[in-house]
Amino acid sequence: MNQGRLKDKVAIITGGSKGIGKATATKMVKEGASVALLDILAQEVSRTADELKAMGGKALGINADITHKEQVAQAVEQTLAQFGRVDILVNNAGIVKPAMLEDVQDGDWDEVVNVNLKGTFFCTRAVLAAMKKNRYGKIINIGSRASLGKELRTVYGATKAALIGVTRTWALELAQYNINVNYIGPGPIATELFLAANPMESPRTKAIIAGIPLKRVGQPEDVANLVSFLASDESSFITGQAVFICGGLTVGLVHY
Ligand code: NAP
Repeated sequence: MNQGRLKDKVAIITGGSKGIGKATATKMVKEGASVALLDILAQEVSRTADELKAMGGKALGINADITHKEQVAQAVEQTLAQFGRVDILVNNAGIVKPAMLEDVQDGDWDEVVNVNLKGTFFCTRAVLAAMKKNRYGKIINIGSRASLGKELRTVYGATKAALIGVTRTWALELAQYNINVNYIGPGPIATELFLAANPMESPRTKAIIAGIPLKRVGQPEDVANLVSFLASDESSFITGQAVFICGGLTVGLVHY
């Protein structure tokens, strides 16, 4: 531990208790970072933090809802008190409420926008003072390939497309402070949630895989590797970019 390309860095990862967030936290700990995990799931977040500590990593599990700015501010304070700085923010927490346009419930619209978009805004705004003070920061927004269009994803796709917009704006505004802001758009990733809805051997999963040029779904570690690169100094000349990590799925979506 603490020998890799994130040596001595401190990362906050939202939704860090499972799935892509947990894989990212694990990778970052292996790369030498201290990690603060923010998650709405109290037991899971402390269990994941304990697992990371058992690996020899420095980890803090914080039970917080990113849609509440007071809880976000408190979580950032707790991270600063424990680790002294914040270098990296991974805006990973996100929710989806699948529905065709006519079936979208007003309440679901608000909930998804609140978590995916407003929560990302709250978390980013809350870490800015710490990053500006050190004239250093890496902000990575986890979007989705659904930002380019996907059935049943009216609200979700809207929020994930909007994150590309805020990524580009924040990259421009924050470049003067040496803060890089980038966006990652995963395609199907075999998280617990994905596998519960799409068992590996099901006809549905086989059809999904058939449509992916690389003929597999992604693993959480595939995304974690890219997050880790964008969080490191190896990506210091990259900002305001959207990278889709989806086995080539989005390539076929773009027709000229
Ligand atoms: P996941 O397994 O559901 O993990 C996300 C975590 O964030 C969960 O623990 C979740 O708790 C938590 N969370 C939800 N709302 C929160 C809030 N308001 N405050 C704090 N934490 C909250 O998700 P994942 O599949 O790893 O996905 C991670 C990110 O990648 C998401 O932004 C997702 O949109 C994006 N993504 C995933 C895929 C995929 O195939 N898995 C594809 C494209 C994009 P709950 O379980 O209670 O909601």
